[in-house]
Amino acid sequence: MAENILILGSGPAGLTAAIYAARANLNPLVVEGIQAGGQLTITSDVENYPGFPKGIMGPELMADFRKQAERFGTRFAIGDVKRVDFSKPPFKLFTEKETFEANTVIISTGASSNLIGLPNEMRLMGKGVSTCATCDGFFFRGLEIAVVGGGDSACEEANFLTKFASKVTMIHRRESFRASKIMADRVLKNPKIKVLWNTAVEDVLGKDDVTGVKLKNLKTGEASELNVAGLFVAIGHSPNTKLFKGLIEMDEAGYIITRNGSKTNIPGVFAAGDVQDHVYRQAITAAGTGCMAAIDAERYLENSHL
Ligand code: NAP
Repeated sequence: MAENILILGSGPAGLTAAIYAARANLNPLVVEGIQAGGQLTITSDVENYPGFPKGIMGPELMADFRKQAERFGTRFAIGDVKRVDFSKPPFKLFTEKETFEANTVIISTGASSNLIGLPNEMRLMGKGVSTCATCDGFFFRGLEIAVVGGGDSACEEANFLTKFASKVTMIHRRESFRASKIMADRVLKNPKIKVLWNTAVEDVLGKDDVTGVKLKNLKTGEASELNVAGLFVAIGHSPNTKLFKGLIEMDEAGYIITRNGSKTNIPGVFAAGDVQDHVYRQAITAAGTGCMAAIDAERYLENSHL
């Protein structure tokens, strides 16, 4: 029999949708992929999620979301969905081994920060390497840090990080920013930011915590090292939407387009969280849209008598 609600992804959006759907007696099934719990599982302290005045560790917060979803009867399945058929309900989702069928689907597959691909980047993630200045900037009070990238995100993060860091070095591979003029000007006028142009980061250094970065000047080939306590990678995000390419309406960058709450262009298919939001990208906004998606799916089921 087809599921009432199948939720794809188990970050803050998916698990909030699960809590709401389960409490509405809809017996939701969450299908989680490789990174169960989503992006918060790779951050350390979360200090801006309301309700936790002392902060909470990202993985712990996600474990609590999950317990709360389970408490009301959410079921979980692990499966790497390889293909979907959304041509008509019940919708079908295929993993290598099994096929799920559902009357409504909430897509909350999130987005992933693009990484440079340095040998020690993943090992030092959360130990000085970060992809989120809003999340981690606070931990670098009075320290010297580096930001990689030359777009709006990198400029925004560099400016934001000067609130905490004693010095921010921006490292960009070309000799002009991709960022809008206003953002670039803010960086260039900020006395706490120094820009290294035509420079690539070759690796991040440190045993337990970041102690520096290895650099290469792309014009001269000269190698150097820079002592920093943190490396913020701000080279863009990619929504996890490959699976839905050509099937669901997306914007140029591949984010799912939602209208009237969480509705996609396919009736019965909803989207929540970072997979449809390249602007806010916060756990709290993802959770909020997850709640909306569960309510939208519940109303859809009621109105279509499925
Ligand atoms: P982006 O505009 O795609 O810029 C990515 C930057 O990272 C580029 O400078 C790029 O270098 C660099 N980069 C990419 N891959 C790299 C690699 N492997 N190694 C080193 N550098 C690499 O991404 P974004 O800054 O995240 O912005 C995404 C969108 O959101 C944009 O449309 C932006 O305008 C918007 N946004 C707006 C605001 C705002 O207005 N407040 C804030 C944030 C984002 P190249 O320049 O050489 O390609």
